[in-house]
Amino acid sequence: MPPPQACRALLAAAPRLAGRRWLLSSLLAPLATRLRSCKGGQEEAAGSGGVLRHLLLKLRATGPVTVAEYMREALTNPGQGYYTRRGGVGEDFITSPEISQIFGELIGIWYVSEWMAMGKQNAFQLVELGPGTGTLTDDILRVFNQLASVLSKCDVSIHLVEVSPKLSAIQAEMLTGGKVQSNPENKSAYMKGISKTGIPIYWYRDIQDVPQGYSFYLAHEFLDALPIHKFQRTEKGWHEVLVDIDPEVPDQLRFVLSPSRTPATENFIQPEETRDHVEVCPEAGVLIQRLACRIEKDGGAALIADYGHDGTKTDTFRGFRNHKLHDVLKAPGTADLTADVDFSYLRKMAEGRTATLGPIRQREFLKNMGIELRLQVLLQNSRDSATHEQLLHSFDMLMNPKKMGDCFHFFALLPHHRVVRPTNNDNPQSKSPLPPVAGFGELSLK
Ligand code: SAH
Repeated sequence: MPPPQACRALLAAAPRLAGRRWLLSSLLAPLATRLRSCKGGQEEAAGSGGVLRHLLLKLRATGPVTVAEYMREALTNPGQGYYTRRGGVGEDFITSPEISQIFGELIGIWYVSEWMAMGKQNAFQLVELGPGTGTLTDDILRVFNQLASVLSKCDVSIHLVEVSPKLSAIQAEMLTGGKVQSNPENKSAYMKGISKTGIPIYWYRDIQDVPQGYSFYLAHEFLDALPIHKFQRTEKGWHEVLVDIDPEVPDQLRFVLSPSRTPATENFIQPEETRDHVEVCPEAGVLIQRLACRIEKDGGAALIADYGHDGTKTDTFRGFRNHKLHDVLKAPGTADLTADVDFSYLRKMAEGRTATLGPIRQREFLKNMGIELRLQVLLQNSRDSATHEQLLHSFDMLMNPKKMGDCFHFFALLPHHRVVRPTNNDNPQSKSPLPPVAGFGELSLK
């Protein structure tokens, strides 16, 4: 595959980027495949009581709930959910952008590269879903700032979709130094500020509140946090897995099977399904449909990075607390609940409206984006051996197949014209190949 021209040019500029932040000390702790984790201990009493009490009342009054409803309550219940309530994220909450600044830098380069390949429009929105601490956006904004000469004629704005008041406050501090305005005149946004580099930033609770327009979307470890339905095949056909009160143990929850088929069983199980256990995330499907509609109508692209599979895995629902696996039904609201993303389902949801690329393994995507070159530059610029060691350690975390290299994948939605040139015999341009999409093909740096 020919080298992606835009990407190569941008990487040449990358050495000017200053090193900002080094590896978190928590990285040295042993890590499970799932690298996000939360603080346990003292938060248990506060969180679990609220969500569990609320769920027990509900279950007693109206009977079992779907796993999706349970997950939604545990994670985003407005008062007590895990994401809603949590502060202090970033202390021991580990995701790729928190591990190394290189991760966000390469993603920033991907967006500039695609913006160039798609004709350098005079404005774009960068829309991030579930920005966590804001570190990824911060790294991307630093790249945009360093590449100011490339983006000088482009009006860039940042749009963050975040349900958690705690996390949006942390993001505001990280990105604007805390200089934000609540309830701005732009009624669809709940908060507004200006980045340290002078770029407007808006916060929303839902993607539907984000203004339409030419946009680049980003979802890193977001889709895995959306509620899933679970289904089990039995001798009597498919049943939905539900959450109920355990009659044997007071105040304890258990899984049960729906006595008959539920509306979800009818809608989500394909007749040709061969697995015995299936997880479906309809919210992820709706989100992909929305992004695909927007990209088809207004242009742009979406980059989705998460752990997942291609419609092959079965039971992936799990909880994490304090770097350890956690029983998903214990102390809801105090642990991170998650399930692998089914990329084959996302592809189906986008079908027709946009082209899709991937899923490609994280280590291949980052290699194609030039991570080795960037590492060499940072190593050359660092003087002390501790920094060297940290750089190599974080590189290993991101790239090692046994760590994050193989389980995380990148997946993209792009307008059809970006990957297939419409056939037009009168147009000589139609014969020249389209520039490859950075990250999804091998990078050759000649
Ligand atoms: N992207 C970040 C954080 C991932 S954690 C990183 O990789 O480090 C998941 C993020 O999604 C959190 O910011 C959480 O508050 C947010 N989130 C979870 N469910 C959400 C929902 N339904 N709508 C909007 N944001 C949500």
